[in-house]
Amino acid sequence: MRKKIFISYLVLIIIGISTTGVFMSQLAQGLYRQEVEQRLKSTASLIVHQITQNIDKGQKIDFNSEALSYADILSDSSLLDGNPEKLEPRITFIDYNGKVIGESNADFHKMENHLGRKEIKEAINGGIGLDIRFSKTLKMDFIYVAMPVKAAETVIRVSVPLTQLNKINQTIWIYSGVGILAGLILTILLAAKFSSSLTLPINELNMVSREISRGNYSKRASIKSSDELGQLAATFNEMAEELEKSVADLKDKNIKFDSIMNSMTNGFIAVDKKQRIILINETVCRFLEIEYDEKIAGKNLIDVIRNHKINKLLLQTVESNESSVHEISISLQEAKIFRIYANPIKSRGPVDGNSGGILSIMDITNIKKLEQIRTDFVSNVTHELKTPLTSIRGFVETLRSGAIDDSEVSVKFLEIIDIEAERLYMLINDILQLSEIETKQKDSNIATHDLESIISEVFSILHGAAGKKSIELTCKVEGSISITANRDRIKQMLINLIDNAIKYNIENGSVLVTAWKAEGRAVISVKDTGIGIARQHLARIFERFYRVDKGRSRSMGGTGLGLSIVKHIVNLYNGDIKVESESGRGSEFIIQLPV
Ligand code: ADP
Repeated sequence: MRKKIFISYLVLIIIGISTTGVFMSQLAQGLYRQEVEQRLKSTASLIVHQITQNIDKGQKIDFNSEALSYADILSDSSLLDGNPEKLEPRITFIDYNGKVIGESNADFHKMENHLGRKEIKEAINGGIGLDIRFSKTLKMDFIYVAMPVKAAETVIRVSVPLTQLNKINQTIWIYSGVGILAGLILTILLAAKFSSSLTLPINELNMVSREISRGNYSKRASIKSSDELGQLAATFNEMAEELEKSVADLKDKNIKFDSIMNSMTNGFIAVDKKQRIILINETVCRFLEIEYDEKIAGKNLIDVIRNHKINKLLLQTVESNESSVHEISISLQEAKIFRIYANPIKSRGPVDGNSGGILSIMDITNIKKLEQIRTDFVSNVTHELKTPLTSIRGFVETLRSGAIDDSEVSVKFLEIIDIEAERLYMLINDILQLSEIETKQKDSNIATHDLESIISEVFSILHGAAGKKSIELTCKVEGSISITANRDRIKQMLINLIDNAIKYNIENGSVLVTAWKAEGRAVISVKDTGIGIARQHLARIFERFYRVDKGRSRSMGGTGLGLSIVKHIVNLYNGDIKVESESGRGSEFIIQLPV
């Protein structure tokens, strides 16, 4: 840039000085010529006047000697006063026929006819002849002035060489050269000053725009001048301001969009027509066990998602341009079931088409599990209800078909019907309880209760059942423990646990209920000396209708829902339940509840 400005200045100055040089040279030459011409004219008219006078006096004129003597006089007196150099004047006499009849600087006999010369012609015609040309005789430029000496029908021509003209030219060009040299020095100084005053702001603008292109949008140019560069910098700064705002706005929108996308429970993945990912959220990555990274967008789908079901779905959606819904199972670390809504991305253009495909992925593994649990529950309930009902109907039928007449048998059958009806009642009761607790987020009738008093109440309810098997019920509560809960719920929980501890106990066994406080929680342990639970069943005993020994449970009047109800109550109060048991060595159920 600086170099260009410098060269431009230099060229301009050289052109300027050269033009001035040429103009000056032309002007000086013109003036010099005019001056010489004027002097030659007055000299010629003086000589004409003298010769005419001499002729009028009747003198015979020898034009050659006249030419020589006038030339002598003129060279002595210097034709051009004031000129630094004396000029050798030349005087020639030519008759009207063009014949040279006198010449001061050459042998006039040898000279050719001069009738063709421009100045001679003009003089013969009565005017003052004038010409400047190269003299072949004397080999230099001459200025010729001719005048008629009418009395002698002769023309006098006075001429001088224009030696001074070349000198003037030389001088002018020397001055021009000096001027160019001075201009050069001046140019260097000016160019250095101007170019730096011009390039500094441009360099600054350049640097600032480079910073902005690197993402440093807060950079601004600090040029304060009021000239075009200052205006350019001001416009540039305004532009940078707008850019900064737009980028911040865009970033903000992107952040919002990303946080919305990533906080969605559904997974989203969109690809373009070439199966390049244009959008993917963290949920998809979590579902498909891929590491989320902001740079995923832009990559090829198959390089990121190595699941052919998903990839095929996207490919099909883009190719078919149709929406579809799918349920697919994918086995990763754990088997998952996804509901996938596949839609083409419609292009916004005059031509109908798509610019890619998008999948909305919903993890329905839990929904499916719940559906399965519900289905299992319904079939279990049906089955559980069917058994006592079949039994009741069977005995009623037997009674109807005659057994009623046998009073002993009919009493026995009625007792069995009563037991089965009781079982039905308990079963329905348990089912209702379970569904009530299940649907609750928070329990009702919450109050603070003394735990020991609830345990005593439960003991008194189960005292009879324990007595039948000579089982000793013991309660040990460390300090006083208050529980804020629905009293009936806690009572139900303890009844179920202690009832099991009696049911699955041995004759003369014992049940020990202990309670203490630990880390702000109430810990309740129900420990028995019963048959215990084999290790392989431990994980499943809280499931609905799960029984270790179905026959035994039924004979004990069990519904298979007792522990399930306990677990749901514990969960309702954000508690925790665990079991420690070994086959034949008794069981211990430990519950932790917030106080
Ligand atoms: P049930 O009505 O059959 O007792 P539960 O849900 O209360 O149903 O218990 C599930 C199963 O867990 C029982 O059938 C039984 O096999 C086993 N079980 C529960 N409590 C005990 C215990 N204290 N000792 C041994 N086995 C138990």
